[in-house]
Amino acid sequence: MWVRFPPRSLHSPAASMLETACKLHPALAMALSWPERKADTVLAYLNLALKQAARSRCRYRVGAVLVKGGRVLTHSSNRVRNAPGVDFKHATFHAEEMLLRRAGISRGAVVYVARIDRAGAAALARPCPRCQQALALHGVALAHFTTSAGTGTLRLG
Ligand SMILES: [Zn+2]
Repeated sequence: MWVRFPPRSLHSPAASMLETACKLHPALAMALSWPERKADTVLAYLNLALKQAARSRCRYRVGAVLVKGGRVLTHSSNRVRNAPGVDFKHATFHAEEMLLRRAGISRGAVVYVARIDRAGAAALARPCPRCQQALALHGVALAHFTTSAGTGTLRLG
């Protein structure tokens, strides 16, 4: 079912959401004390993914960004499946699937996946097993994702 109230995230930029998340979750603040450039880069792309997530019309709002060599190849939110005559009530087309459909084989690319919850905070966005497999098959060997406590990293394939 669609969320009835307008989520806060629609009224505040993703950047400030991440900032709030940092204040709420020590793990994310710790991420900021990593070697600065690396942490900044990861958070910047996760920020972009959060912006994509905010555009999703799905119950679970997920966004993803595919990056290679410092360039964004493509980005997307997850989508509601729209097959006429078929009732996939809560089924969605995952954001990662959309990236792979657009970008194709992307050897050496890194995927950043983010989810925002109803309150507009970053939430767990670990790629599901099906997406993990698809990403690996397309040459994407590394995923960074948001969690309710900060960020997570996953090696694929
Ligand atoms: Zn998935």
